[in-house]
This record gives sequence, C-alpha cells and structure tokens, in this order.
Amino acid sequence: MKSEYDVLIIGGGPGGALAAKTAAEKGLSVALAEKRPAIGAPVRCAEGIGEDLICEFFDEIDPKWISAKIEGAKLIAPDGSYFYLNPEMAGNEVGFVLDRKFFDRDLIWQAVHAGAEIFVKARAVGAIVENGVVCGAKIEYNGEVREVRAKITIAADGVESKFTRWCGIDTTVPLREMETCAQYLMTDINIEPNITVFHVGREIAPEGYLWIFPKGHRSANVGIGISGTQSGDGQRAKDYLDRYVSENFPEGKIIEQIAGGVSVCEPLECTVSDGLMIIGDAARISDPMTGGGIYNAMYTGRLAAEVASKCIESGDLSKEALMEYDSVWRDSKMGRALERNYQMKEIFVKLTDKQLNAILTSVKNLKMADFSTLSLVKEIVKLNPKLIKDLTGLK
Ligand code: FAD
Repeated sequence: MKSEYDVLIIGGGPGGALAAKTAAEKGLSVALAEKRPAIGAPVRCAEGIGEDLICEFFDEIDPKWISAKIEGAKLIAPDGSYFYLNPEMAGNEVGFVLDRKFFDRDLIWQAVHAGAEIFVKARAVGAIVENGVVCGAKIEYNGEVREVRAKITIAADGVESKFTRWCGIDTTVPLREMETCAQYLMTDINIEPNITVFHVGREIAPEGYLWIFPKGHRSANVGIGISGTQSGDGQRAKDYLDRYVSENFPEGKIIEQIAGGVSVCEPLECTVSDGLMIIGDAARISDPMTGGGIYNAMYTGRLAAEVASKCIESGDLSKEALMEYDSVWRDSKMGRALERNYQMKEIFVKLTDKQLNAILTSVKNLKMADFSTLSLVKEIVKLNPKLIKDLTGLK
C-alpha cells in the first residue's frame, strides 16, 4: 500500500468495486481498502436485481453470477390473497437472484484488471481532514495504522458507514427508518424456482416484508426486514423468521444465517464535501420501498469515479466541483425513483392488515400488458380511491 493515490475507496462492496474499476479505467491511481478478509463474504443480501438494471453495466452476464432467473413474483396479503405477476406480465421487471460471492469478487477482479490496487483486511479507522478538506484515511493494515492520502476519497463503506461521520457529516438513520433484517439460506424446501415471494402484514413482518428469493434447486434466501421500532424481546426479525420457517418449511435445512440492516430513509442531504464523495448504502441511496441497493451502489460508484476523474484533471477538488455527482444522481431515473418510493414507503408502513388485504384483493385479478411498479401503484390507486388522497404527492 502506497502512501498516496489519486483516489482512495473505503469499502469493497458493489459500489466501491465499480468506483475502483471506473477510476482505474480513467487512468487514475486507485486504492480500495476492504476491512473483511474476503470480498463478497459473508453475503448480507437477498441478492435480487432487475435484468435491465444489471445489463446497464455489462455486455455479457456471466452465468456463474446467477443463482436463479426470476420470471414472476407473488405479493401475498395477511389473509392470503395475492397479486401474481406472471411471466407474461412481468416484461422488463424480470430479474435475477445473484450469487454475490461470485458477483462481488468478479467486480473486484475487473477493478484489479483495470489497474486498481485492492487491499483486504484493510480497515479504515479514521479520516485525514485538513482545514475541512478530506485528504485520505488512516488504514489499519498488516498490524499497523498508516496514513493513506488521496486527492479524492470515496466512502463506500455501506450501511454501517463510519467514514462519513469521521469526516464530520451526520449520517444518523432514525430507528423507525432502519429495517433490521434476518435471512436464512435454506435448502430442501418446496418453492417455485423462478418466482420471488413477498409477504406483507403486521403479523408477519411489521413495517417491512418477508421474502423468498429462489437460489436454485429447492433452495432460497428466506428473509425478513422489520422496522427498528417494531423490534423487541421475542419480536426480533429472527423471531418472526423462525416462526414463518417452522410453519412453512419445517423440513428445510438452514445452511447460512445472516443479520443486517437496511436504511429506508431519504438519502443524505448532500453526498459530497471537499475531497469526499459518498456512494451507495453509505449515502443512504438504497430503495426505501424495497431495501434494494445493489444497482444504486454500482450506479453511484461509477458516476462518482467519472466525476472524480474530471475534477482531478481540472485540479478542482472542492465540494462545488464534486457537486456534479450529487446533482446528476438525484436527477437520474434512479434518484427520482428513490424520491417517489420514499413517499410510497411512508404510506405503506401506515397501512393496516385490513387495508393490505383490501388492496391485494382489489388487484388480484389484474392483468397488465405493460408492467412496472409504478403502473401497479397507479392501478391500486384507481381501484382504491380512498388511498388517492395520501398518494397524490406521487409523480
Ligand atoms: P456494501 O455492499 O455494504 O459494501 C460495503 C463494504 O464496506 C463492506 O464490504 C464492508 O465490509 C466495507 N467496510 C465497512 N466499513 C469499513 C471500513 N471501516 N474500512 C474498510 N471497509 C469497510 N439489495 C438489492 O439490490 N437486492 C436485494 O435483494 C437485497 N437484499 C438485501 C437483504 C438484506 C438482508 C440486506 C441487509 C441488504 C439487502 N440489499 C439488497 C441491499 C444491498 O445489499 C446493499 O444495498 C448493497 O450491498 C450496497 O452496496 P455498497 O457497496 O454500498 O455497500
């Protein structure tokens, strides 16, 4: 590890990897520090992603990244009524359940091939801030803490991000907007191999949802997220998950367990400061409605590196110059979806089980030629006029 780079990236998730690859392709000297001993493990993710989204980054999808191809989805209400998005309707919403152990590693390999230096078991333990300007990080590596300076530092350290705080930016997520999650990778279970399943309702997953994401033959990520404020003794995410699993998959085997958090708040007010760019989960850029953030992290990682490259070339590393990154992602399709989905989430968390039952019953027989989340919401509004008042803010 050298003492100086053009770009230093903290965190080796999909966001950090895309930032490293893009910055290296632009000819910059790049270091990425990942605190874990291995990239991609443990996987704290249900691994779902839309096909159109992932195709934005690659000409070809490597089959080993994919655990299952998804052709439809079932959204199940507390009383068992459900909306079934079948393969004919699914259109552009089909997707994949990834194998992130392979996927994340390949992203990092691509960064290495582009020329980035990657360090695992390299933990950022502090920021170097001089006169308000972020100039790099203190990295604990091989038993010693060293100062690594950079023209631009990119915080890609995920939902647990401390780096941004060390730079003086408040990243607190209100407890009600932090979903606490538990997930089992299960095998020996009867599932539909190409259909994702979502259960909603206060009894099953208060202010969140329970998911089944197929991972191949008789295997799936079975997980749950509930609001932090709903968690308590006997009512933790794992308790809800255990109850569901014992009722629905009593013979299933759990071969991996994870716990994690997902922020469902609005993104940070500003995602840059002098010498610093914040991407992906660290910037709270995951989808407030679904909790999905793989695409968002990759998108912001690539964009941050592109803007960083321009700013390094021009020699202007000020917050004002880096703001281009902040305004471009906010104005992008993804940024606008975040805004809309935040409003949707605020309504969703207030719905009672009775209202959820009514909504899902109303759309049960819906056939839509052109499916998208937004068109489904529009149909729900049409069929449930009482909700319109709450939803009128939607774009
Ligand atoms: P991360 O992938 O979290 O990477 C951050 C990296 O930074 C980590 O490797 C971490 O070890 C490292 N790091 C942290 N601190 C330091 C430090 N001090 N020094 C060095 N390294 C550090 N998203 C989807 O799109 N689809 C899903 O189905 C989905 N399911 C999910 C299910 C669960 C249970 C959870 C918890 C999340 C899920 N997500 C899902 C969200 C998704 O995992 C994240 O949005 C995505 O991984 C964000 O990428 P990132 O690069 O911003 O951060």
